[in-house]
This record gives sequence, C-alpha cells and structure tokens, in this order.
Amino acid sequence: MPSKNFVLGIFGGGQLGKLLTIAAKKLKIKTCIYTNSIDSPAIYYADDFIIGSYLDKKKLNIFIKKVSIITFEFENIPFSILKNLEKNIPIFPKPEILRTLQNRISEKFFLNNIKIKTTKFKKLKRNKLKFLDNNFFPILAKTINFGYDGKGQTFFKNKSEIIKHKFPNDQYILEKIVNFTKEISVIIVAYENKIFAYEPIENLHSEQILRQSISPARINSNINEKAKTIAIRIAKRLNYRGVMCVEYFLKKNGDLLVNEIAPRVHNSGHLTLDSYNVSQFESHIRSVCNLQPIQPKKIKNAVMKNALGKNIYKFRERKSSNKEFFYDYGKMYVTEKRKLGHLTKVY
Ligand code: ADP
Ligand code: MG
Repeated sequence: MPSKNFVLGIFGGGQLGKLLTIAAKKLKIKTCIYTNSIDSPAIYYADDFIIGSYLDKKKLNIFIKKVSIITFEFENIPFSILKNLEKNIPIFPKPEILRTLQNRISEKFFLNNIKIKTTKFKKLKRNKLKFLDNNFFPILAKTINFGYDGKGQTFFKNKSEIIKHKFPNDQYILEKIVNFTKEISVIIVAYENKIFAYEPIENLHSEQILRQSISPARINSNINEKAKTIAIRIAKRLNYRGVMCVEYFLKKNGDLLVNEIAPRVHNSGHLTLDSYNVSQFESHIRSVCNLQPIQPKKIKNAVMKNALGKNIYKFRERKSSNKEFFYDYGKMYVTEKRKLGHLTKVY
C-alpha cells in the first residue's frame, strides 16, 4: 500500500484522465493532473492540477515535486521530456515503450520483428510516389506521430490521386486498406508479475472514429484466444506495466492484424466500468501504484455508444433505465465529432 503522502501524477486531463482520477479516489490514492488545456474535465476531480505546456520546464519541475510516480492518459507527450523526468521519478508505462508506440512506423517494425502481423505499409517519400505499386492501393496516409480519432488521415483510391496531393513533409505512413470483417480490441493489465486480459471487445467505427463497442466481441473461441494471447505476448515483450489496448483487424480467413497499440486506457474499455468486477481505470491505477492485483471478470454483456459533438445534447435529454449508464465528460467546448460522453447499456 502506498504511503499517506503518495500522489499519482497523470499527464493529460481529458475523459480518460477524469475516469482514472475517479478510480484513484475510490482507492484513496491522491492525484495531480498536468494538462496543457483549460478545457480538461479531469482537473475538477483531481486533488491538484497544473495547467502548462508539456515543454514548460519550470512547471514540469513543480509537477515532479508534487508527485510520487507519473502515468499518462494520452500518447503525444514528447519522449525527450519524459526521458528527462524519468531521471528523478518513476514513470509507468516506461517512456521507452511510449517512444516505440507513439510512432506508427516503429510500432509496426516492433510488431513485425516479433512475427506479429500488421497492415502492409510504407513510409511516404514524396519524390518517389510514381514508383508505388498500383496493387498497394487503396491506402490511408496517416501522420506518423500525433494522430487520434482519425485526425491526420487521408484516403487515396489510386496512385494518380496521391501524386496530385500536397503533403507538407514526409512524416506520413502509407497503409494499405484492410478489407476486414470486424475490428476488435483487447485490453490487458500488466502488474509486476502478472498479466490479465479482458475479453475481446468488438468496435464499430465510422469516419475513422469509434462509435460503438460491444462486449463480448461476436467472434469464435479460437479468435478470442488468439487475440488475448497476442496482446499478452506484446505486453511481455515490452515488459509492460499498466493498462494497454491492442486494436485488431479480423480478416475473413481468420487472420488477425494488429492495427495499433495504445499504451494507456482506451475508449473501447469504457464499458468495463459497468460490466466487469474491475474497470480498466481501476486496473491501471492498481498496477502502476503496485496495489493488490484483481483478475478482471466480465459480469455482464455490454454495448457502449460514444456521444460525439452536438449529439451530446440528445444524450443529456434522454432518460436512462437502470441498465444504462451515461457519462457526461463535462467538457466546455462542443466541437464537431469531439468525444463528449458515452452511454453503456448492460444486459
Ligand atoms: P487512430 O489513432 O486515429 O485511432 P487508427 O489507425 O486506429 O487511428 O485508425 C482509425 C480507424 O480507421 C480504424 O479503427 C479503422 O476503422 C480505420 N482504419 C485505419 N487504418 C486502416 C486500414 N489500414 N485499413 C482499413 N481501415 C483502417
Ligand atoms: Mg485507433
């Protein structure tokens, strides 16, 4: 059990930070949020917070004096900053892991090196576009770093389309479009000596944004086992600590390709709040703070829907039954497709 003066520092103040903070409170762990935006719902729930740029050395110094260990709720913190902070304070998951996974190319190299399949990809070279194979299309161009919720992604049907496109630089990955039958994700929690997997979750996206998650995923037991085994293998190889999510494309022939890995709690795992004995948020706090491990057990089936942009108003108006759980993140700004809340139905 951490000491009385123990404070968990969390980088990022969005809904994931908020739900982590609430889980920490339940476990009597104090939290301090560091965020670069005043529109950060987590700051209202944390014991303390700092608003500042992730590059502001002075504020970061104040932050590390306040906290005992650091974790993060989003991936886009510069590695050099975390590496520096790590000299003085433990950070979980390790910054080295974040460095590998926050770059879509090094993430895929890591996976392919340990014989885990991914989508076919190439790094963009603007002066070599005419040499691309026609069979490589259709593709999605994604920024190598800093993408989320489909941001920084452009679809190209064929070579002539991409040749006409003006990319500002070469910092893009080109990914062949996968003709998948389903998208699924597996959330794992890695403690010092134990790794547990939640059951695979089925995810429905539109315009590259998650709309709906279904638990358990409607897949056969082979695929179910395979998805959990791959996620655990990845966590072991990374010597991981905390909650991690692996997103997969399932193909018709049963192949599972890893789309991406999130070294943090994940939107598809929100339904664990109301359908498991222990939520992904509590699991993450328990593992990074070295508390007693709890094996996740599904106690109900669930469907989670995201409330995006102006849709939040409809969600706020509707009456929830006793099988429905509505989470309003309490963000200030309602912008198009921004994740503002979610509703989970259990059955
Ligand atoms: P983000 O970091 O924005 O979540 P993803 O790479 O996960 O980026 O892309 C978001 C969604 O876009 C995926 O969940 C999937 O629905 C779709 N997508 C991304 N890459 C591919 C691909 N290579 N083939 C088919 N669909 C894709
Ligand atoms: Mg994704």
